[in-house]
Amino acid sequence: MAQREEFLPKWIAWEITRRCNLKCIHCRSSSTIESEQGDFSTEDGKKLLEDIAKISKPTIVLTGGEPLLREDIWELAQYGTDLGFRMCIATNGTLVDDEVCKKMKEVGIKMVSLSLDGSTPEIHDDFRKQPGAYEGVIKAAELFNKHGIPFLINSSFTKRNAHDIPNVYKKARELGAKAWYMFIVLPVGRGEEANAELLDEKEAEYWLNWHYELEKELILKGDNTILVRPTCAPHYYRIFYQNAKRDGLDLKRRNLVFGTGGGKGCVAGQSIAYIDCHGWLRPCSYFPNSDINVFEVPFHEAWFKSKIMQDMRKVEEYKGRCGVCEYVKICNGCRVRAYWKYGDYMQEDPICNYIPVKMRLGAGSKTAVSQTKKED
Ligand code: SF4
Ligand code: SF4
Repeated sequence: MAQREEFLPKWIAWEITRRCNLKCIHCRSSSTIESEQGDFSTEDGKKLLEDIAKISKPTIVLTGGEPLLREDIWELAQYGTDLGFRMCIATNGTLVDDEVCKKMKEVGIKMVSLSLDGSTPEIHDDFRKQPGAYEGVIKAAELFNKHGIPFLINSSFTKRNAHDIPNVYKKARELGAKAWYMFIVLPVGRGEEANAELLDEKEAEYWLNWHYELEKELILKGDNTILVRPTCAPHYYRIFYQNAKRDGLDLKRRNLVFGTGGGKGCVAGQSIAYIDCHGWLRPCSYFPNSDINVFEVPFHEAWFKSKIMQDMRKVEEYKGRCGVCEYVKICNGCRVRAYWKYGDYMQEDPICNYIPVKMRLGAGSKTAVSQTKKED
């Protein structure tokens, strides 16, 4: 079975708790300090790690909510390290102290990701809806540097804070992050209020072009201090390629050792996955649906059995512009944006404005946009 050989998990984000001490405006899990449902048991968590190990040894990112609120986090992390996974933690930073850093080193945490969405306390705290959140990130970064723990910075942007993108990059660099990931916040549903703040297609294009210039400069200078990547903007891979060609450059991009395992824009369900705290397996953390639960069907079977996961691997069945695009193999389009826009995750990515060559020539369009597009 081709899918077995070709698609194996290389990176899994695992929501080990939904509890959180912040209330960020873009939060995918609508976390609160007291989650309605309890977390899964330590034993169930260990069993899940064993099941994953049956097919692959991916990077596993313990996430939340705020994962540091989970008391057995070190036990689970140690168990994963012993099984041969590269264990990482994604935290908002506010609970990090010397003790936490020591534990991270003890259990073999390889990388920590922090979130920084503004270069000043005003911008970040407004975005995170938590006074003091900025200080928490800065303090955590200082502690990680002190203890020699590598960390990367994820930054989420909407209309509210996009003006601050260059400053946030500078801040991430100044703080000593190994990588900086610029994330263009996704829709959280159809027509929901929070969606009004999302960057539109033109704004996204503007910032992705800005990012290209930044990455180009780093590559040309041979500056390896920090790796930069936009996340969840797969068409950046198309923009990068087009711009490099326009500039007559053959730019060699670097990859983070703990990257998602794909040299293309989106690898959701192909080499990455998300498991929520109730065991629902999804192609990525923003994907709204799941059709399989890894506490019921063991992960090593669920990974292949899930129809949704299988669909993610059928690039040749994508529709609209993505379905005929010459860049689909390096881009893939965002399946979540397609879902929220058209109610069909196999549709085209609505934030990309590219018209593929085949469509411009009027040939080979198996499902023209106008035929498949649903009204908002
Ligand atoms: S489907 Fe969209 S949200 Fe999910 S990983 Fe891909 S680009 Fe990101
Ligand atoms: S049309 Fe789809 S596959 Fe092509 S560049 Fe845009 S998002 Fe990527």
